[in-house]
Amino acid sequence: MSTIAAISTAPGNAGIGIIRLSGEKCFEILDKIFVPKHKGEIKGYTMKYGHIISASSKEIIDEVLVSYFVAPNSYTRENMCEINSHGGMVVENKILEECLKNGAMLAEPGEFTKRAFLNGRIDLSQAEAIIDIINSKTEKEMQVAQRQLKGRLSNKIEDIRKDILNIMADIEASIDYPEYDIEETTNEKIKKFLNELEEKLNSLEKTFENGKILKEGIKTAIIGKPNVGKSSLLNLILGEERAIVSNVEGTTRDTIEEYVNINGIPLKIIDTAGIRNTIDEVEQIGVKRSMDILFDAELIIAVFDDSRALDEEDEKILDLIKEKKAIILINKTDLKKGYVQSDERITSLHKTTIPFSVLKEEGINELYNAILELFNMNDIDLENTDIVTSSRQKNYILRAHDALNKAKESVENNMTIDITAIVLKEILEELSSITGENVSEDIINEIFKKFCLGK
Ligand code: GDP
Repeated sequence: MSTIAAISTAPGNAGIGIIRLSGEKCFEILDKIFVPKHKGEIKGYTMKYGHIISASSKEIIDEVLVSYFVAPNSYTRENMCEINSHGGMVVENKILEECLKNGAMLAEPGEFTKRAFLNGRIDLSQAEAIIDIINSKTEKEMQVAQRQLKGRLSNKIEDIRKDILNIMADIEASIDYPEYDIEETTNEKIKKFLNELEEKLNSLEKTFENGKILKEGIKTAIIGKPNVGKSSLLNLILGEERAIVSNVEGTTRDTIEEYVNINGIPLKIIDTAGIRNTIDEVEQIGVKRSMDILFDAELIIAVFDDSRALDEEDEKILDLIKEKKAIILINKTDLKKGYVQSDERITSLHKTTIPFSVLKEEGINELYNAILELFNMNDIDLENTDIVTSSRQKNYILRAHDALNKAKESVENNMTIDITAIVLKEILEELSSITGENVSEDIINEIFKKFCLGK
C-alpha cells in the first residue's frame, strides 16, 4: 500500500499542528526531510526533536518533534510518524508538501482509520465508534461510543455468531451421520435456539432508539401562538448553564444544527430561526412550512399563556399535537391568572402538562424530566447496555431478524433441516456485516467518507 500523509489537526492557527504519515516508506520519506538532533535507530513509541527541511534546498521549514510508531504497533498497523510542528496553516502545508514531494500520497478523509480496518486492527463497528467519538455532542454519547470502540458490540455479535456456528455444526452432523441422531431432536434444539436468538436480536433492536437519540438528539419544535413566551423559553433553555449550545456543522449535512444538552441527552431544536420569529408562521398555522416542522419533529413543546383564555389559535395547536409526542407548557403562571391550567380542552388531551414561568424560571426541571421520561431515557444503563448506534448496524440486525423468521417458519413447517441450515447461514452473514466481514467496498467507502481528513 502507498504511503499516505495528511494534516491531522484542525485548520487554523494553534499551538501545534500535526502532520501524519503512514505506510511502508514512512521512515524513508522522513529521513529525507527531517534532521533530528540525535540520530540513532528508530524505536516505536519514542519522539525525536529536530528540524523539517526542504529536501531540495535544505532550508529549514520548522522546528518539530516527531513521534515514531513501528508496525504493527500503530494506529494503522503500518509504520507511522506524527510530525508535531507549529500550528499554522502555512507551516503545516509546507511540511505536508515536502512529504508529498518526497513520495507520499495525500490521504483521503478517514484513510488512516480505513487502513486500521483493512489491516485488521479494528472492525467496522469500531471504526464507526471512532467517528462517533469525534462527533460526540454530549458526554453520554461519547461514553457509548467508547464502549463500542472497545469492542463491546463486536464481542456480542461474535458470541451470537459462535452460537449459530455451533448449531450449524450440529445440523451438519445430523445430516452426515443420521444414524447417530434423530432429526427431531435437532429440530427441537433449533427451535429453542431460534427463540433465544430472537430475544437477543430484539434487545439489540430496542437499544437503537436510545442510541439514535444519544447520537442525533431529539428533534424538538417549540410551538405556540405569538407572545406566549416561545423565544423566552428558548433563551432560558439555551442560557442555562448546563445547556451547552453547540453549533455543530453536520458532517454529512450542510446545515448548522443547534443542540442543547439536557442531562446528557441532546435536544436538537429544529428551525430555531423559525421559532425566533414565528409570528407570521403561527398566524398562518395552516401554512405548509409549519406543518412540515411539526411533521418532522419527534417532540413538540406546545406553549400556552395562562394569563389569557384559550382562543381559536390555541385550539388549532391543541388539535395539531393530538397525535404527537408533546409536552404542554402553561406559561406565565407567575401572573396567577389561571385561565388555561384547568381548561378541559387541555386536560382532555392527557399529555404531560407543566405549569411554567419563564420569568421566574419555574418548571424547567419538570420539563427536562418529562422529556427524559417521554423518551425512556431516564433508565438507560450505559454501563451495562450494548447500544446499537448506527442505522447501518440496525439494518443488518433487522435483516438478520427477517432471516430468523424464515428459519422459524422452516422449522415450524417441518422442512428438512438442511433448508434451515441455509437460512441460518443467512443470519450469520447479516450479522457479520455489522463488524464488516463481508460488506462491499462501496459500503466501506461510504463509512470512511464521513471521517475528517487526517483521521
Ligand atoms: P413569543 O412570541 O411566543 O416568542 O413570546 P416572547 O418570548 O417574545 O414573549 C412575549 C412576552 O411575554 C414578552 O414580553 C416576555 O417577556 C413575556 N413573558 C414570557 N414568559 C413570561 C413569563 O413566564 N411570565 C411573564 N409574566 N411574562 C412572560
